[in-house]
Amino acid sequence: MILPIRIYGDPILTKPTQAVETVDEELRTLIDDMIETMYGASGLGLAAPQVGRSERLFVVDVSPLLEELEAEGLEHHGAVPPLPLDRPHVFINPEILESSEEEVEFEEGCLSIPGIREPVWRPERIRMRYMTPDMETREIEASGMLARVLQHEYDHLQGILFTDLISPFRQRMLRRRLREMARGNVQADYPIHIETPARR
Ligand code: ZN
Repeated sequence: MILPIRIYGDPILTKPTQAVETVDEELRTLIDDMIETMYGASGLGLAAPQVGRSERLFVVDVSPLLEELEAEGLEHHGAVPPLPLDRPHVFINPEILESSEEEVEFEEGCLSIPGIREPVWRPERIRMRYMTPDMETREIEASGMLARVLQHEYDHLQGILFTDLISPFRQRMLRRRLREMARGNVQADYPIHIETPARR
């Protein structure tokens, strides 16, 4: 089932999430729905708060970028141990164990902030520990675009949006558009849910 995506200004997007204790039937359904919702909105990742939930989990599928990644050298964008990049992956209770000092800048967008793309500086490589839906603990070292997507989604679980990470100058430039968005003046080509203080 495709779930409506929460939009900038929704209080759930800035609230920290709760660790997942068990993956029961209900949570499996949520995971399936999140993957379907991510594909429905052509996103590379989707975190639970973006569909109004506070579980500490996100889904990622960077395969729409595969061609681009291959052209740039997949190994540079990969993971150790290798993570097959042509399918969705579920990250439960993720922790970033290490981040490289080297940072790279790249344009990001977010399904919860439709129509806005901004360059964001992030560590080039990270090491992440997480659990699979079978509650197996895994650890990967990710680099390039995969590392970027993982960090973007991880931030959602901390209540952080990419617009929090851009320069103060760009934040000032966007202030008005974001304020309008938070008031519900927003359009997206996928189902959204507006839940803002102004509307309550
Ligand atoms: Zn996002």
